[in-house]
Amino acid sequence: MFDKIFVCLDMAGCPNRCRHCWLGCTPNGRLHADDLRAVAAAFRPYARQLEVASWYREPDYLPEYRALWDLENQLSDRRTVTHWELLSVWRAVRDEAYIPWLKTLGIRSAQLTLFGGEQMTDDYTGRPGAYAEILATMDRLLKNAIALRIQVFVNKENLTDLEVVADLIQSHRLEERCAAIGMPFAAFVHQGSCDGENAKRVAIRPTPEDLAQIPPLLVEHTLRHFGQTSLEAVFGQTEQTLFSELEADGTTASLVSEQPVFFVDKDFKVYPNRSAPAPYWCLGDLREDGADKILNRYQNGASPAQQARKDVPLGAMVRACGDPSSRRLFSKDDYIDYILNTYCEVTAP
Ligand code: SF4
Repeated sequence: MFDKIFVCLDMAGCPNRCRHCWLGCTPNGRLHADDLRAVAAAFRPYARQLEVASWYREPDYLPEYRALWDLENQLSDRRTVTHWELLSVWRAVRDEAYIPWLKTLGIRSAQLTLFGGEQMTDDYTGRPGAYAEILATMDRLLKNAIALRIQVFVNKENLTDLEVVADLIQSHRLEERCAAIGMPFAAFVHQGSCDGENAKRVAIRPTPEDLAQIPPLLVEHTLRHFGQTSLEAVFGQTEQTLFSELEADGTTASLVSEQPVFFVDKDFKVYPNRSAPAPYWCLGDLREDGADKILNRYQNGASPAQQARKDVPLGAMVRACGDPSSRRLFSKDDYIDYILNTYCEVTAP
């Protein structure tokens, strides 16, 4: 019995194919309310407290999003959040009632993701028109007194486009318009974790000299957002430094929590929410194996990735998969996950 289980079902997938997506760009499904009920019923006997979500990629993507929200609340013991400060841009520009509905849930601030200007953002979001939709969503949010938080993913390919984001903040008076609704405007840049789709871009991950190219306005907002005093503290250390710190590290780790979060994909494969839902994290098929077997595997660290972390000293994985000469920047935790995922890929049968 777990203190709490949070289970998220990928009922519809996502309209986007973001190149940084840590969840991976897998095909979309089309599941129904009864599937969510079945997933909740499967996990219920094993949790003192159960929380259920109908998505883990795009929130509110299905037309019955309101009914699904009600169902999530019925199936969950307790909602500790009103709604993540995430929204569907796709829906926001197609459904007049959507943002007013978000407002009724108590949302005061929402996060939107840019990669630079129009072409860069469309390319990186994976569909034409995405940038225009994000801009239209900003206006709709502000009209409904919901403040903006802009997230910008950075790599060597979009560094020179960051100035466009700084210009957008100024030309659209985003700070002033948020202040007018009594809320602070927020923005931040970061390189994201190095898993899912973003792992495919490891070669263009920022290196220390790239940080000087981040426009001052974005630096100021980023430091405020993370409560840091330097960009180095936000972007982490070079792989070179992390490699030499960890190459002799003989520790192993158990990746098991008393309050796990599980992702269930459209085919009912279950993954711990630790990194990308990749095959080497898979705990089994909920319909074939049942929650009992899956939770046993989780607790015993039996997915190939959990097993590797439990059995193989970290330094051995770093020596096998790291690059001692790379100056790419990582936070330490992201680097360990990147090394673990790479190790699982290269040792997969
Ligand atoms: S990052 Fe979010 S919006 Fe982009 S593809 Fe992944 S789930 Fe969809």
